[in-house]
Amino acid sequence: MVNSEFVRMLEDAGIPDADFDVRCMTEQITGNRFAPELHPEQRNQMLDMVQRRMQGEPLQYILGEWEFYGLRIFVGKGVLIPRPDTEILVDTVLDWCKGKSGLKVLDLCTGSGCIALALKKHLPDADVSAVDTSETALTYARKNAEYHHLDIEIHHADVLDKHFAKQFHDYDVIVSNPPYLTGQEMQELQTEVRHEPAIALLGGSDEDGTYFYRKITSIWKDAIKTGGLLAYEIGWKQAERVSELLNSHAFRQIQVIQDYEQRDRVVTGEKI
Ligand code: GLN
Repeated sequence: MVNSEFVRMLEDAGIPDADFDVRCMTEQITGNRFAPELHPEQRNQMLDMVQRRMQGEPLQYILGEWEFYGLRIFVGKGVLIPRPDTEILVDTVLDWCKGKSGLKVLDLCTGSGCIALALKKHLPDADVSAVDTSETALTYARKNAEYHHLDIEIHHADVLDKHFAKQFHDYDVIVSNPPYLTGQEMQELQTEVRHEPAIALLGGSDEDGTYFYRKITSIWKDAIKTGGLLAYEIGWKQAERVSELLNSHAFRQIQVIQDYEQRDRVVTGEKI
């Protein structure tokens, strides 16, 4: 079976971008995107990958890795796949950090560790810590940190645990991409996203998906030093609520930054 037949299998199963997916799988197996021939062993591997993809499993889980901010990030079942939109959050934080050194940075709900690692890569002298409640996610975060030789401190804890938060002081930056989808949005997820952990997606039981912003802001604000930055990724309809929330918790210079599709995606504020 040649590659075009795998493409057809995916197309027949209604998978968009079948050609792209097959190229990525071919590269993963052979090291070459355009490998003309596959050995029998490679064909079996390919068939296995194609069948998983036909079931709607995300390409990123099948490949076991995805790129984020120029870094290879290992992913798999149980960890959120890094999204291109989240690179805007990293850009925003790095812009703010320009010209500053020796910063203390904390990433809450780190998942695969992609944000913390991208920040550490570009701020080598920063002290970067990351927290997540999912041990599965953290096995990926540790693997990713090790692979890139990036020295970040990883904590297995619930970001909603006030006692845990009390140990953290004097942070220059707290960054987070918490779960923020609404119950309604969870009902409407695309098949691929349904394979991802709900714990990383659902923003609480309230209607607007802002539970984690409210909790994290009140629990962690004391860990940020005066003039320090709080930076959140948000759902595109949440900018107003999250901005008001930051304002009500004594953050100023509140800014909303848009993603590549001109939708509100990041909210930041500085602690007064
Ligand atoms: N942006 C993700 C999605 O649309 C949601 C990520 C999150 O909840 N933090 O699936």
